[in-house]
Amino acid sequence: MSNKGTILSGSRPTGKLHLGHLIGVLDNWKDLQEDYDCIFEVADWHALTTKYDQTENIKQHIREMVADWIGAGIDPRKSTLFIQSDVPEIAELHLLLSMIVSVGRLERNPTYKEQIQELGDNDSIPFGLLEYPVLQAADILFAKADTVPVGEDQLPHIEITRDIARRFNYLYEEVFPEPESKLAKVPRLPGLDGRKMSKSYGNAIYLSDSKDEINDKVNQMVTDPERIRLSDPGNPDVCSVYDFHEIFNKEEAEDIAAECRSADLGCVDCKNRLANVLNNELAGIRNKREELLANPKQIDEILAKGTQKVRKQAKETLKEVRAAMNLK
Ligand code: SF4
Repeated sequence: MSNKGTILSGSRPTGKLHLGHLIGVLDNWKDLQEDYDCIFEVADWHALTTKYDQTENIKQHIREMVADWIGAGIDPRKSTLFIQSDVPEIAELHLLLSMIVSVGRLERNPTYKEQIQELGDNDSIPFGLLEYPVLQAADILFAKADTVPVGEDQLPHIEITRDIARRFNYLYEEVFPEPESKLAKVPRLPGLDGRKMSKSYGNAIYLSDSKDEINDKVNQMVTDPERIRLSDPGNPDVCSVYDFHEIFNKEEAEDIAAECRSADLGCVDCKNRLANVLNNELAGIRNKREELLANPKQIDEILAKGTQKVRKQAKETLKEVRAAMNLK
């Protein structure tokens, strides 16, 4: 690694990615890879914390996700891409780190609290869910990453990683840097129905969607509910279509808002303009991902190369950890 600083980030392979992932994660990664040594992890063990009974498509999901990453501009010549479960050293580090963090600390994690409220009784809560931040700490610390790009909801997890690193260094030897969070500014992107864009709500526009699918989906998007007739002035502030224009069509957004308010622009035309913008934005991504998925060996080779590189680092870190803990 160079002295640029190391970033580690990752995603759970739950299949193809949507526009929310593009603006929330991938655009940020694309910028970061210019200034840092970036390691991007396919977090397949993390996917098991909630999808442990749905593993049949995991290989395909990994390929789809990595094709989306590369299609969106993550460049394997600049960044290292690897699969978590191909690096068994992370599992060992996870085990060792789990000894020095208390159950109480993990139970206070706000994300965990939310999840147990959703899942209900104790018997439905996998132990892996409680341990999720420890596994994340192992991911970050094996690579000695000094920076972790996160959304606001992930901040408590990085705090746990910092606590673990500090405690390890205090108990044994100074092995780990305390990673800093790098908060990404993520614009709010609604789904087709106005709620947050999410695969589980069935309201997402995917990076892989065809031109026709995008046209259809944009057509279904909710607009200002008060605007009934073309001659009614609209209010872009309450319109999902306008939220998209603001993010993907910055140059025209101001004019569109004015034309909407003066009823000079109808919703059908406004949606057509958005569909064109999205189709232009996604054409390159779509072509690249299709090319990769037509020959998935290319994806497997990129991941194998990345894995080889990070395993070397993981082995070195583990050696230091074992020595610090007086383990052979
Ligand atoms: Fe929304 Fe555009 Fe219709 Fe205005 S013209 S309400 S911004 S879809």
